[in-house]
Amino acid sequence: MNDFTPLPITDVEHLTDDSVAITFGLDDETRWGFRYSAGQHVTVRAFIDGEDVRRSYSICADASVGELRVGVRRLDGGVFSTWATKELQVGDVLDVMTPVGDFTVPAPTGPRHLGAIAAGSGITPILSIAKTVLNAEPYSRFSLIFGNRTAQSIMFLEELEALKDRHTDRFQLVHVLSREPSAVPLFSGRIDRLKIEALLDTVITEPADHWFLCGPYEMVHTAREVLERRQTGQVHDELFFAEPYVAPPVPPPSTEGITNVTFTLDGRASVVLVDPEGSPVLDYALGVRSELPFSCRGGVCATCKAKVVSGAVRMDENWCLVPEEVAAGIVLTCQSHPLTDELVLDYDV
Ligand SMILES: Cc1cc2nc3c(=O)[nH]c(=O)nc-3n(C[C@H](O)[C@H](O)[C@H](O)COP(=O)(O)OP(=O)(O)OC[C@H]3O[C@@H](n4cnc5c(N)ncnc54)[C@H](O)[C@@H]3O)c2cc1C
Repeated sequence: MNDFTPLPITDVEHLTDDSVAITFGLDDETRWGFRYSAGQHVTVRAFIDGEDVRRSYSICADASVGELRVGVRRLDGGVFSTWATKELQVGDVLDVMTPVGDFTVPAPTGPRHLGAIAAGSGITPILSIAKTVLNAEPYSRFSLIFGNRTAQSIMFLEELEALKDRHTDRFQLVHVLSREPSAVPLFSGRIDRLKIEALLDTVITEPADHWFLCGPYEMVHTAREVLERRQTGQVHDELFFAEPYVAPPVPPPSTEGITNVTFTLDGRASVVLVDPEGSPVLDYALGVRSELPFSCRGGVCATCKAKVVSGAVRMDENWCLVPEEVAAGIVLTCQSHPLTDELVLDYDV
């Protein structure tokens, strides 16, 4: 479903000086469509100073309970996060798309050990995964390395501590603070290669079946490399942000001129002309169908994905589609430029 549903806000909890947890009210009509798997995210839309602003936020609640709750951290100069952390109130209504995303937990085949490394607001999907697994799988264990600047800046600190109290034997929580010294040097500083290696050598020594990573690109990239080299479990990651990409100069397209792009959304086909060397296909397509789904416009969230039915595209960036999706012809339209005279896309995948 690509539509937005207006949902009332039933709770705004201030977690730290610069972050909030927002709970949306679901009724009997909306609850079914907003079921989710732990680790998924929603696209939220607000009109801020007259602008249509859309952003993705990971759900932070236990999926088996089904509460729709997200955590938002304020970024300096950030349009949506500043508004959400300062202005948003109980009773306000936000437009929300149904949950999506592949950063999810494979079904269990027995008791297992899952590991996670998160930093800052990257805790939101990890919290959902940890809560869901610990509550639904009574013999599985969860280990979390969580990086923050200071103790005061830790989002969901109380919830994590409560989870630890409830599952003392099954939930191992390691805080690493980059701007606060600790009696144990291992627990202070940045989560870099040496820190991850040392934590795996001494604190979280048991191999995990799966690892979940969410945080800044550098941390996620480094952690993936370390974990893959150690061959300790399958690694899954989620990025919230990729630096704006500057496309390198491209050779002239094999066919001259403009591409005819036909795309289907909600069963209805539309046609638009696209300059292969101009903006991505999404930008042109929005000119004729403003309801097209999109959010980050940076190749990170996959909200704008579509299937290439015929023709071909090149993508500037892809931070979220897995190789199987790419092999099946799925593309991010916010990153796609046609390579053929005719291109047919299907958003209803
Ligand atoms: C799948 C997915 C899940 C996400 N889940 C969460 C979540 O649970 N909690 C949360 O707080 N955020 C989450 N985000 C990030 C969120 O969507 C927004 O990007 C973020 O809140 C900033 O939006 P903004 O409008 O405040 O900033 P903008 O006005 O878009 O940007 C302000 C400045 O910050 C830079 N910037 C934008 N986003 C980031 C970022 N994430 N990190 C560093 N710099 C950035 C921009 O280049 C710009 O300079 C998620 C993103 C994705 C793709």
